[in-house]
Amino acid sequence: MTTFKCKRCKETDATLKSRKELFCDACFIKFVSMKQRKLMMVDEFYRDHFKVLYGKDLVDDGKSKILVPFDFSSSSLSALDVLLGLLKEQNMQHRGRVGFTLELLTVFKSDEDRINIENMWKELRSSPLYDESAWGFVNYHMVNANNFFESAKELQHIVLHDQDFTTKAIEWRNESDGEYSIQTLLDRCPNRNTRNDMWIFIVKHIVKKFTYQQENIKVILWCQSMTKMADQIIGLVVKGRGAQIASSLDSENADAEYGDRFKNLYPLKNTLLSQLDAYCIIRGLDKYTLNYEVKSDLFLNATDTDTSDTKTKNIRLVKNMTINELARKYFDDIEGEYSNIISTVLRTGDKLKPPKIETSSTDNHHGSSKCAICLNTIYDDPAEWLRNIAVNRGHPVETEEEQSYYDQWKASKIGLQNEEYLTLRNHAWDNGNDIDLCYGCTINLNGIKTKELVWPKNDSEELQSVLAEYEL
Ligand SMILES: [Zn+2]
Ligand SMILES: [Zn+2]
Repeated sequence: MTTFKCKRCKETDATLKSRKELFCDACFIKFVSMKQRKLMMVDEFYRDHFKVLYGKDLVDDGKSKILVPFDFSSSSLSALDVLLGLLKEQNMQHRGRVGFTLELLTVFKSDEDRINIENMWKELRSSPLYDESAWGFVNYHMVNANNFFESAKELQHIVLHDQDFTTKAIEWRNESDGEYSIQTLLDRCPNRNTRNDMWIFIVKHIVKKFTYQQENIKVILWCQSMTKMADQIIGLVVKGRGAQIASSLDSENADAEYGDRFKNLYPLKNTLLSQLDAYCIIRGLDKYTLNYEVKSDLFLNATDTDTSDTKTKNIRLVKNMTINELARKYFDDIEGEYSNIISTVLRTGDKLKPPKIETSSTDNHHGSSKCAICLNTIYDDPAEWLRNIAVNRGHPVETEEEQSYYDQWKASKIGLQNEEYLTLRNHAWDNGNDIDLCYGCTINLNGIKTKELVWPKNDSEELQSVLAEYEL
């Protein structure tokens, strides 16, 4: 078998090939970690929160904390590995002093989830890969996703009008209206796509709310790879959430939706998912992944693991995939030879600016409002747009025959559901408040059979209601 030398050190035999370049294990680890470290030092703000500083340069009294949403994917494991490496380095060079500490946060959905996470975390903590001193700078937190509803001070029942697409909210009380949980919400979603869209928001909200409530956390370090960010960008476009792209990639400005308390950093945005997978395999971190399968495509001696069995499974599943999964599959498929498409999507997204808000309008209600569900700025009135493209009003009943058909329909299951919906709608329109939804959330709500959902009332009070942590 012919061997090739690593293109970086030109000494060791190459073990893998990424974006047409040959690497040995050691040079590849250095290459991937340097990309992350570079983005962690991208400007003065971030430099100050990661570097060891002395005297008057000290930021936050030397208690700079970095929040890392941690989901046991190859991305979060490799990001943590680089961070622990940096902490070890600082600790040695500055005799026990480091520039920052880490707060890791995992959001879980069920008890089964929690047990798996707990066990995996214990394994990682006792891994021979790290010595105990590195963990001295790391705190681990677990939050149950149900906190999203349970910790909310006030819940509201949001109802969409089936004809003119406007929305009203009425108060929801668990005591009289019934318990509302993450599972209730996800069960009511009409498809995996809406479910996925809601879930992404819920996790993001918990992470940001948790950060908002901690002292001295000015940075959330998100572990998304370039591949994942590209699929998010495409997903946002397809879901009619294109206006959110700019803010979803913004690492320069403080997060305005959460009181300007922190910035969002994406230090893996120049690294492909396949590169992070390879990083984990070389470092021996692949055994600590959860709900995630590491791929070994980049290795020169990689055997074809895509057996006919998994191939047929893939074909069968395409139909049921969410938009994000489809975009991911597309990027997965092209990652090898056409990985520059992925970086082009990301770079284009990164250059986008948020749409301009029309200030000429004297009507303050539109143009600058926030979506009551996903908190994003609403730039155009989606209700008006939807009214213009949809014909939603029924034809009035005129003959006896039509009346009998109508009565039959009313007695059917759909008819009864509709009856229930109309009662709720009338109640909301008599007693509720006007609220605004963005286009993406209006479409989600319209897809739910009953065109309603329960959601926390998002205001500064909601942000202060304490998230209960699960103690390990
Ligand atoms: Zn090398
Ligand atoms: Zn929305």
